Amino acid sequence: MLDFRVCSPINVLEADACVSQLIDSNTRSWNRNLISQIFSPFEAQQILNIPLSWRLPNDKLIWHWEKDGNFSVRSAHHMIKETDNLNIPEASSSNNQEIWKAVWKIKAPPSVKNFLWRLARDILPTRGRLKRKGLSLDTICLLCFEAEENRDHLFMRCRLVQQTWFCSSLGLHIPSQRSLQDWLVEWLSNKNILASQLFGITLWKIWQGRNLLVFQNTPFDPRFIASAAADFTFEFNGAENSEIVVVPTSHSIDPWCPPPPGMSKLNVDAGCFNDGFMGCGMVIRDNLGSVLFAATMLEKRQVSSTLAEALALRWVLYVCH
Ligand SMILES: [Zn+2]
Repeated sequence: MLDFRVCSPINVLEADACVSQLIDSNTRSWNRNLISQIFSPFEAQQILNIPLSWRLPNDKLIWHWEKDGNFSVRSAHHMIKETDNLNIPEASSSNNQEIWKAVWKIKAPPSVKNFLWRLARDILPTRGRLKRKGLSLDTICLLCFEAEENRDHLFMRCRLVQQTWFCSSLGLHIPSQRSLQDWLVEWLSNKNILASQLFGITLWKIWQGRNLLVFQNTPFDPRFIASAAADFTFEFNGAENSEIVVVPTSHSIDPWCPPPPGMSKLNVDAGCFNDGFMGCGMVIRDNLGSVLFAATMLEKRQVSSTLAEALALRWVLYVCH
């Protein structure tokens, strides 16, 4: 209900239904059953908390920022200034400018850009933010039940979200010291246009997955979220324009990073030898770095190093199938 809007999907009543339809005129009280069918538990409670007039007056529009409920330019000006001051992210202004430029340049539908803009400004109605705005609610993250649901947790630190990034074609490991704001700047302005596009769309899908869990009790599945982001990116670009998303080369020289808890990581490499053999090896490790499985293969075959890598990947798929 932040900004006076409800987040629950429209169902049961028509989209243009009036507030009066939620009120039982006989008992002059909220229709609890109807409200709990329509709204999420949190929103339903906020509505039920609003006291009703016993006179049952007709619905009317009220301007919240004036005591008499009538609109004035002075109060609107004041309200806009106040909102702007509240919403300035903590990062430096040059960082802000970079992020705005990157958001508007990214190849994505307007709804994704709009989401990224709200994420960058930290105005998404996460449970932590709603609490800071004065609403009384439990702020625990409903994905992991381990920490407060705020912007950095929901998009970077949450265990299930880390698994999502790991499952993504981007194969991202979350930098431990980074703020979300800096991470956004780095990725949204990445020179690899497809990588920055997939990054932005994955963030959007994480938010959608979180909303489906909160409002419709649909389980949050990291693999599904990652592949939904890839599918959406592929469809948005159109099949004729499709390319494989390549992880930026700087990541290939990073030291080995463990996968998130609950997942295992497979590394594979191939090499060509002067005697006409090619060899490849694979190792699967868990999040503690313990080896779960390892194998090697040597074959008489003279191929280019690129083809050797491709053959190694095919071999891995065969072994792991
Ligand atoms: Zn969490």
